[in-house]
Amino acid sequence: GNKNINAKLVLLGDVGTGKSSLVLRFVKGQFVEFQESTIGAAFFSQTLAINDETVKFEIWDTAGQERYHSLAPMYYRGAGAAIIVYDITNQASFIRAKKWVQEIQAQGSSSTVIALAGNKADLLEARQVTPAEAQTYAQENGLFFMETSAKAATNVNEIFYEIAKRLPRA
Ligand code: GDP
Ligand code: MG
Repeated sequence: GNKNINAKLVLLGDVGTGKSSLVLRFVKGQFVEFQESTIGAAFFSQTLAINDETVKFEIWDTAGQERYHSLAPMYYRGAGAAIIVYDITNQASFIRAKKWVQEIQAQGSSSTVIALAGNKADLLEARQVTPAEAQTYAQENGLFFMETSAKAATNVNEIFYEIAKRLPRA
């Protein structure tokens, strides 16, 4: 029969990696070159049909600035899923992403589905993080990994779809 699933989802990662742009692409199908920085966190919702189910994502797009770090647990606690975003052209953002993974695995719920998104995959000439390195890290840490581009609309719906498939069913 038809089932409706509600899933709280949080995006975490350095400022400027493209968290808000991924959400804008997923929710509205749009991209802007000058996306305003997020203050605190912003909320969106979007539903996805998958087989005979409807998954309603309740999305918290966090700011990423260190000064908001203490607020992060409010968003990842009780979250069904987390997308940890780094920028493939910025090695420091990949290191920061690993820190987020560690924090969620230590402080969050063990059932939270964690996705690692290497965003800005359209900027190949400026790449600093190889897909092999991220894939190996993801495999070793029980995450799933995709390179995405909010700009080119690559793997954006797909990453939400893969999360939806992995959410625990009652
Ligand atoms: P956030 O701080 O993580 O929310 O990052 P934003 O979504 O605000 O994006 C930061 C900047 O990167 C903006 O200028 C975006 O237009 C740009 N950006 C975001 N995603 C992509 C992408 O996939 N490719 C490219 N080339 N630029 C992107
Ligand atoms: Mg933002």
